[in-house]
Amino acid sequence: MKIQRGFKAVKEEERRREQAREQRRGKLWRVFFPKDADDDYEIPIRFLTDEPICYYEHTKFVNGKVQNYTCTGDGCPHCEDGDKPRFVGAFLVIDRTEFEYDERDDKGNKTGRKLKGKDRLKLLVRGQTDLASLDRLNSKYGLLDRDWTVYKTGTGTSTRWNFDRGDLDEWTEEEIQNILPERYRGRDFYEILEEQIIGKSTDESTSEDDTIDEEVEDKVMSGVQSLDDEGTPEKVKSSNKGVIKKLKRK
Ligand SMILES: [Zn+2]
Repeated sequence: MKIQRGFKAVKEEERRREQAREQRRGKLWRVFFPKDADDDYEIPIRFLTDEPICYYEHTKFVNGKVQNYTCTGDGCPHCEDGDKPRFVGAFLVIDRTEFEYDERDDKGNKTGRKLKGKDRLKLLVRGQTDLASLDRLNSKYGLLDRDWTVYKTGTGTSTRWNFDRGDLDEWTEEEIQNILPERYRGRDFYEILEEQIIGKSTDESTSEDDTIDEEVEDKVMSGVQSLDDEGTPEKVKSSNKGVIKKLKRK
């Protein structure tokens, strides 16, 4: 397959808005790939799904914010605006990065104290280059039974994100469920993914913040690709689990 590397300059970088988004319900964050990451920047993740849910997505700057919209194909307003969607695949993952957040009392007011957390349920959304890598890694090793570390190589236009395999450390079903936020427990992971993906396009009337996406880089780092099929990994094509049908472009 054809592999392209690309790093298109992005005009604006979205500020991290984790604190605000934490309070929001219903939308999972995406694993964030910062543009200006240091060489030693790493993101530890655990895959909960090992096949991507694939779809086309528009990434736009709206009022200085990056927003992603799932392309609905026929009648998609963003296509009609002349924007070209790109092919992406989403995985459900646990972001194992440690983070700090504000402690809140029963009324939701900040207490002034900071708490530490880790293991947030997120979407990992990548373009064709990374999907091809993940396809290969999944066939060769499987993705589910260990942590992976996402790390970067190169700088500037040759920046790439890579996936490093951790030691075997299989989680029991119970361990996984305990890590999930309550409202996602007992649910099918692919269903959760589809709900997140489809929700993004059908629910644009929710508050603006709900559709903000912090990942300028996602579009950039993974190689922005044209939408012809020649670059699409076979596995990706064959594992669409229905979503692609609903979202298929004309
Ligand atoms: Zn579209």
